[in-house]
Amino acid sequence: MKRMIALLAVLLLCGCTKQVDTQYYMMDTVMSFSLEGAQTKEAEAALSEKISALERVFSPTLPESELVRVNAASGSEVSLSKTFADVLEISLKASEETGGAFDVTLGSVIALWQKQEVPPSALLEAQITGNETVDLSNRMLKTEPGVQLNFGAVAKGYAADCAKTILEEYEIPRALLSLGGNIYAKGEKADGRPWQVGVRDPNGTASDWLGILQVRDKFVIASGDYERYFEQGGVRYHHILDPKTRAPAQSDLRETVVVNTNGSRGDILSTALFVMGEDEAIAFWRARKDFEMILVSQDGRVLITPNLKETFTLTNDTYELEVVA
Ligand code: AMP
Ligand code: MG
Repeated sequence: MKRMIALLAVLLLCGCTKQVDTQYYMMDTVMSFSLEGAQTKEAEAALSEKISALERVFSPTLPESELVRVNAASGSEVSLSKTFADVLEISLKASEETGGAFDVTLGSVIALWQKQEVPPSALLEAQITGNETVDLSNRMLKTEPGVQLNFGAVAKGYAADCAKTILEEYEIPRALLSLGGNIYAKGEKADGRPWQVGVRDPNGTASDWLGILQVRDKFVIASGDYERYFEQGGVRYHHILDPKTRAPAQSDLRETVVVNTNGSRGDILSTALFVMGEDEAIAFWRARKDFEMILVSQDGRVLITPNLKETFTLTNDTYELEVVA
């Protein structure tokens, strides 16, 4: 009898919910995973393995990455992994859809700005970019010589999509993942309430929020001029570039947040909406309405789409809330 009780206890323990909270530095950013379920350990291992595999595909700096290999072969034909080809195809389509605000061929321009000083304008102009410089068919790629790809504005969102699939495979009922500025909230909190996701205050530090979003089963993906920048001659140069000017986007927005059910698209759109600026971003949303968004303007307004009215709370009263119609 004693033995039976012991066995039962072990079985109960095996079936019970376990929580795992971990942090990593991957894809050039801090990632944190909080999972609850019966297979959290296995799911967590699969997540970190998948994200490091993606890093070996999309990292612009890892010497062995597929992207480094592809960029080094610029001008000649190269074969691509399925993952690389899929994300490149998504990216090329997104460039068309966003009127070029998102541009995966900006790699050489991004590299110039990453030197943390203003590049000479003749050098910026000399870079070869644009969808028309890329020929992709059947996982074979040929670009014009000199074209460099960069997936900085989509890879973390794609990684979040892969993470969502892994959580499903391991039957994780609730999880909160943060991949840099890219959040995926699965299910709801243990007490049955929605997850609460802070929306960063672009004027504050990394732990200052201007508002809180309540979400279930959603991606919340942000872009902003506060994330990466350098200063030169009293001017701030941030990391989101306008492909038309090849310089930091002179946006009337400081931050854009996309709330939706597709991480790659959320990541692409948050960057593209920033480049578009307020009016164009609202027009883009009106023509689709297949995602929700929060725009934080330079002049202190927080614009939200109507479906976020019930779930977004402004917590910083130096901002003014407006609902986009
Ligand atoms: P995100 O933080 O998702 O907005 O992505 C910004 C990163 O994407 C930058 O650090 C660059 O590596 C890259 N990037 C900057 N501007 C663009 C753009 N207009 N289109 C595509 N990628 C960009
Ligand atoms: Mg992005």
